[in-house]
Amino acid sequence: MLDHGDRVAVAVSGGKDSLVLLYVLKKFFEEHNRTNLIAITIDEGIAGYREESLQIVRDFCSSIKVESKISSYSQIFGTDMDYATQNRPSNKMTSCSMCGTLRRRLMDIMAEAAGATVVATAHNLDDYLQTFLINLLSGDLERIGWMYPEPVRYGPNGIKKIKPFVEIYEHEIVFYALLRNIPFQSDQCPYMKESIRTDIREFLNNLESKHAGVKYNTFNTVTKISKTLKDSTRGALTNSTECQICGRKSTQRICSVCGTLKVLINPQ
Ligand SMILES: [Zn+2]
Repeated sequence: MLDHGDRVAVAVSGGKDSLVLLYVLKKFFEEHNRTNLIAITIDEGIAGYREESLQIVRDFCSSIKVESKISSYSQIFGTDMDYATQNRPSNKMTSCSMCGTLRRRLMDIMAEAAGATVVATAHNLDDYLQTFLINLLSGDLERIGWMYPEPVRYGPNGIKKIKPFVEIYEHEIVFYALLRNIPFQSDQCPYMKESIRTDIREFLNNLESKHAGVKYNTFNTVTKISKTLKDSTRGALTNSTECQICGRKSTQRICSVCGTLKVLINPQ
Protein backbone atom coordinates (compact mmCIF):
# COMPACT_ATOMS: atom_id res chain seq x y z
CA MET A 1 0.00 0.00 0.00
CA LEU A 2 2.91 2.36 0.84
CA ASP A 3 6.36 2.54 -0.70
CA HIS A 4 9.46 3.80 1.02
CA GLY A 5 9.78 7.54 0.36
CA ASP A 6 6.06 8.11 -0.22
CA ARG A 7 4.70 11.45 0.97
CA VAL A 8 1.28 10.67 2.43
CA ALA A 9 -1.54 13.18 2.66
CA VAL A 10 -4.25 12.01 5.07
CA ALA A 11 -7.71 13.43 4.47
CA VAL A 12 -8.73 14.51 7.98
CA SER A 13 -12.21 15.82 8.73
CA GLY A 14 -12.14 15.91 12.52
CA GLY A 15 -14.34 12.81 12.83
CA LYS A 16 -13.19 9.65 14.60
CA ASP A 17 -12.18 7.65 11.51
CA SER A 18 -9.81 10.18 10.00
CA LEU A 19 -8.21 11.18 13.32
CA VAL A 20 -7.59 7.50 14.19
CA LEU A 21 -6.10 6.94 10.72
CA LEU A 22 -3.77 9.93 11.16
CA TYR A 23 -2.79 8.70 14.64
CA VAL A 24 -2.07 5.14 13.44
CA LEU A 25 -0.09 6.32 10.40
CA LYS A 26 1.91 8.75 12.55
CA LYS A 27 2.85 5.84 14.88
CA PHE A 28 3.77 3.70 11.88
CA PHE A 29 5.88 6.49 10.40
CA GLU A 30 7.69 7.07 13.71
CA GLU A 31 8.49 3.38 14.03
CA HIS A 32 10.09 3.50 10.58
CA ASN A 33 11.83 6.86 11.05
CA ARG A 34 9.66 8.47 8.40
CA THR A 35 8.31 12.00 8.54
CA ASN A 36 6.58 12.54 5.22
CA LEU A 37 3.04 12.82 6.57
CA ILE A 38 0.62 15.71 6.17
CA ALA A 39 -3.02 16.21 7.19
CA ILE A 40 -5.27 17.87 4.61
CA THR A 41 -8.61 19.24 5.78
CA ILE A 42 -11.48 20.75 3.86
CA ASP A 43 -13.70 23.55 5.12
CA GLU A 44 -16.97 23.11 3.20
CA GLY A 45 -18.49 26.29 4.64
CA ILE A 46 -21.16 24.80 6.93
CA ALA A 47 -21.81 27.36 9.65
CA GLY A 48 -22.17 26.03 13.18
CA TYR A 49 -20.72 22.63 12.30
CA ARG A 50 -17.32 22.90 10.66
CA GLU A 51 -15.69 25.40 13.05
CA GLU A 52 -15.52 22.89 15.92
CA SER A 53 -13.93 20.14 13.83
CA LEU A 54 -11.33 22.53 12.34
CA GLN A 55 -10.21 23.41 15.86
CA ILE A 56 -10.08 19.72 16.83
CA VAL A 57 -7.92 19.00 13.76
CA ARG A 58 -5.56 21.94 14.44
CA ASP A 59 -5.11 20.95 18.10
CA PHE A 60 -4.70 17.23 17.38
CA CYS A 61 -2.15 17.77 14.59
CA SER A 62 -0.14 20.10 16.78
CA SER A 63 -0.25 17.60 19.71
CA ILE A 64 1.07 14.71 17.59
CA LYS A 65 3.35 17.02 15.52
CA VAL A 66 1.89 16.49 12.07
CA GLU A 67 1.79 19.28 9.48
CA SER A 68 -1.78 20.42 8.82
CA LYS A 69 -3.20 22.24 5.79
CA ILE A 70 -6.76 23.55 5.62
CA SER A 71 -8.45 24.82 2.46
CA SER A 72 -12.03 25.87 1.79
CA TYR A 73 -14.59 25.55 -1.00
CA SER A 74 -15.02 29.33 -0.95
CA GLN A 75 -11.26 29.94 -1.52
CA ILE A 76 -11.04 27.50 -4.42
CA PHE A 77 -14.51 27.40 -5.98
CA GLY A 78 -15.96 30.76 -4.92
CA THR A 79 -18.94 29.11 -3.25
CA ASP A 80 -19.65 27.01 -0.17
CA MET A 81 -22.13 24.38 1.03
CA ASP A 82 -24.45 26.80 2.84
CA TYR A 83 -24.74 28.92 -0.34
CA ALA A 84 -25.01 25.85 -2.60
CA THR A 85 -27.80 24.29 -0.54
CA GLN A 86 -29.83 27.50 -0.54
CA ASN A 87 -29.24 28.34 -4.21
CA ARG A 88 -29.41 24.96 -5.96
CA PRO A 89 -32.04 24.91 -8.70
CA SER A 90 -33.60 21.68 -7.45
CA ASN A 91 -33.57 19.53 -4.31
CA LYS A 92 -32.67 16.65 -6.61
CA MET A 93 -29.13 18.01 -6.36
CA THR A 94 -28.55 16.68 -2.86
CA SER A 95 -26.11 18.39 -0.53
CA CYS A 96 -24.10 15.18 -0.16
CA SER A 97 -23.66 14.67 -3.90
CA MET A 98 -22.63 18.32 -4.51
CA CYS A 99 -20.31 18.20 -1.51
CA GLY A 100 -18.79 14.86 -2.56
CA THR A 101 -18.05 16.18 -6.06
CA LEU A 102 -16.35 19.32 -4.75
CA ARG A 103 -14.55 17.46 -1.95
CA ARG A 104 -12.89 14.94 -4.27
CA ARG A 105 -11.59 17.75 -6.50
CA LEU A 106 -10.32 19.91 -3.63
CA MET A 107 -8.61 16.88 -2.12
CA ASP A 108 -6.82 16.34 -5.45
CA ILE A 109 -5.79 20.00 -5.60
CA MET A 110 -4.50 19.98 -2.00
CA ALA A 111 -2.63 16.69 -2.43
CA GLU A 112 -0.95 17.97 -5.60
CA ALA A 113 -0.02 21.27 -3.91
CA ALA A 114 1.45 19.38 -0.94
CA GLY A 115 3.60 17.23 -3.26
CA ALA A 116 1.91 14.07 -1.98
CA THR A 117 2.43 10.73 -3.72
CA VAL A 118 -0.36 9.03 -1.74
CA VAL A 119 -3.74 10.20 -0.43
CA ALA A 120 -5.14 8.13 2.44
CA THR A 121 -8.82 8.34 3.30
CA ALA A 122 -10.44 6.77 6.36
CA HIS A 123 -13.46 5.06 4.79
CA ASN A 124 -14.34 2.06 6.97
CA LEU A 125 -16.17 -1.17 6.20
CA ASP A 126 -19.54 0.34 7.15
CA ASP A 127 -19.00 3.37 4.84
CA TYR A 128 -18.01 1.00 2.07
CA LEU A 129 -21.16 -1.13 2.36
CA GLN A 130 -23.38 1.96 2.58
CA THR A 131 -21.80 3.36 -0.60
CA PHE A 132 -22.35 0.05 -2.36
CA LEU A 133 -26.06 0.01 -1.45
CA ILE A 134 -26.46 3.68 -2.47
CA ASN A 135 -24.91 2.88 -5.87
CA LEU A 136 -27.03 -0.27 -6.16
CA LEU A 137 -30.27 1.57 -5.35
CA SER A 138 -29.47 4.38 -7.77
CA GLY A 139 -28.51 1.97 -10.55
CA ASP A 140 -24.97 3.28 -10.79
CA LEU A 141 -23.05 0.26 -12.09
CA GLU A 142 -20.03 2.31 -13.12
CA ARG A 143 -19.48 3.54 -9.59
CA ILE A 144 -19.77 -0.02 -8.26
CA GLY A 145 -16.91 -0.88 -10.61
CA TRP A 146 -14.83 1.94 -9.12
CA MET A 147 -15.36 0.50 -5.65
CA TYR A 148 -12.86 -2.35 -5.93
CA PRO A 149 -10.60 -1.61 -2.95
CA GLU A 150 -7.17 -1.64 -4.54
CA PRO A 151 -4.89 1.41 -4.50
CA VAL A 152 -5.61 3.48 -7.61
CA ARG A 153 -3.28 5.95 -9.32
CA TYR A 154 -4.89 9.00 -10.90
CA GLY A 155 -4.29 12.51 -12.22
CA PRO A 156 -1.27 14.02 -13.98
CA ASN A 157 1.06 13.29 -11.02
CA GLY A 158 -0.03 9.64 -10.63
CA ILE A 159 -1.07 10.12 -7.00
CA LYS A 160 -2.16 6.85 -5.39
CA LYS A 161 -5.41 6.71 -3.39
CA ILE A 162 -5.53 4.24 -0.51
CA LYS A 163 -8.23 3.26 2.03
CA PRO A 164 -6.39 1.44 4.84
CA PHE A 165 -9.54 1.03 7.02
CA VAL A 166 -11.82 -0.50 4.42
CA GLU A 167 -11.94 -3.84 6.28
CA ILE A 168 -12.36 -2.30 9.75
CA TYR A 169 -15.81 -1.94 11.36
CA GLU A 170 -16.94 1.54 12.39
CA HIS A 171 -17.53 0.45 16.00
CA GLU A 172 -13.94 -0.82 16.28
CA ILE A 173 -12.63 2.60 15.24
CA VAL A 174 -14.84 4.37 17.81
CA PHE A 175 -13.59 1.95 20.45
CA TYR A 176 -9.95 2.63 19.49
CA ALA A 177 -10.48 6.41 19.57
CA LEU A 178 -12.00 6.17 23.05
CA LEU A 179 -9.23 3.86 24.33
CA ARG A 180 -6.53 6.25 23.08
CA ASN A 181 -8.35 9.38 24.24
CA ILE A 182 -8.40 10.76 20.71
CA PRO A 183 -10.80 13.73 20.71
CA PHE A 184 -13.22 13.82 17.79
CA GLN A 185 -16.30 15.65 16.61
CA SER A 186 -19.40 13.58 17.24
CA ASP A 187 -21.99 16.01 15.81
CA GLN A 188 -23.30 14.96 12.43
CA CYS A 189 -23.31 17.24 9.41
CA PRO A 190 -26.63 19.18 9.41
CA TYR A 191 -27.18 18.22 5.74
CA MET A 192 -26.73 14.49 6.48
CA LYS A 193 -30.50 13.97 6.84
CA GLU A 194 -30.90 14.59 3.10
CA SER A 195 -28.91 11.47 2.34
CA ILE A 196 -30.27 7.95 2.12
CA ARG A 197 -27.00 6.89 3.80
CA THR A 198 -28.41 7.35 7.32
CA ASP A 199 -31.31 4.94 6.61
CA ILE A 200 -28.96 2.40 5.04
CA ARG A 201 -26.59 2.65 8.01
CA GLU A 202 -29.45 1.83 10.42
CA PHE A 203 -30.66 -0.99 8.16
CA LEU A 204 -27.21 -2.62 8.07
CA ASN A 205 -26.68 -2.19 11.82
CA ASN A 206 -30.06 -3.83 12.58
CA LEU A 207 -29.25 -6.68 10.23
CA GLU A 208 -25.80 -7.23 11.78
CA SER A 209 -27.23 -7.24 15.32
CA LYS A 210 -29.63 -10.05 14.35
CA HIS A 211 -27.31 -11.93 12.00
CA ALA A 212 -23.71 -11.43 13.11
CA GLY A 213 -21.24 -11.58 10.22
CA VAL A 214 -23.62 -10.35 7.55
CA LYS A 215 -21.60 -7.15 7.01
CA TYR A 216 -18.35 -8.97 6.40
CA ASN A 217 -20.04 -11.48 4.07
CA THR A 218 -21.48 -8.56 2.12
CA PHE A 219 -18.03 -6.92 1.99
CA ASN A 220 -16.61 -10.06 0.36
CA THR A 221 -19.46 -10.14 -2.14
CA VAL A 222 -18.99 -6.45 -3.01
CA THR A 223 -15.28 -6.90 -3.70
CA LYS A 224 -16.07 -9.77 -6.10
CA ILE A 225 -18.82 -7.82 -7.92
CA SER A 226 -16.73 -4.64 -8.15
CA LYS A 227 -13.68 -6.53 -9.44
CA THR A 228 -15.72 -8.21 -12.16
CA LEU A 229 -17.24 -4.88 -13.19
CA LYS A 230 -13.90 -3.08 -13.08
CA ASP A 231 -12.22 -5.73 -15.24
CA SER A 232 -15.05 -5.53 -17.77
CA THR A 233 -14.75 -1.73 -18.10
CA ARG A 234 -10.93 -1.47 -17.87
CA GLY A 235 -9.65 1.07 -20.34
CA ALA A 236 -12.81 3.18 -20.32
CA LEU A 237 -11.02 6.07 -18.61
CA THR A 238 -8.26 6.13 -21.20
CA ASN A 239 -11.00 7.02 -23.73
CA SER A 240 -11.94 10.01 -21.58
CA THR A 241 -11.52 13.56 -22.76
CA GLU A 242 -10.44 16.82 -21.11
CA CYS A 243 -12.96 19.10 -19.46
CA GLN A 244 -13.39 22.20 -21.65
CA ILE A 245 -13.44 24.45 -18.59
CA CYS A 246 -10.79 23.16 -16.15
CA GLY A 247 -8.79 20.87 -18.46
CA ARG A 248 -8.90 17.89 -16.09
CA LYS A 249 -9.70 14.39 -17.29
CA SER A 250 -13.40 13.80 -17.67
CA THR A 251 -15.73 11.32 -19.32
CA GLN A 252 -17.87 14.24 -20.54
CA ARG A 253 -17.22 17.55 -22.30
CA ILE A 254 -17.65 19.39 -18.99
CA CYS A 255 -16.58 17.60 -15.81
CA SER A 256 -18.91 17.07 -12.84
CA VAL A 257 -17.18 19.79 -10.77
CA CYS A 258 -17.45 22.47 -13.48
CA GLY A 259 -21.00 21.32 -14.25
CA THR A 260 -22.03 21.68 -10.59
CA LEU A 261 -20.37 25.10 -10.24
CA LYS A 262 -21.96 26.32 -13.48
CA VAL A 263 -25.45 25.45 -12.22
CA LEU A 264 -24.83 26.99 -8.79
CA ILE A 265 -23.17 30.22 -9.89
CA ASN A 266 -25.25 30.84 -13.04
CA PRO A 267 -28.61 29.16 -12.30
CA GLN A 268 -30.92 29.24 -15.34
ZN1 LIG B 1 -13.89 20.83 -15.28
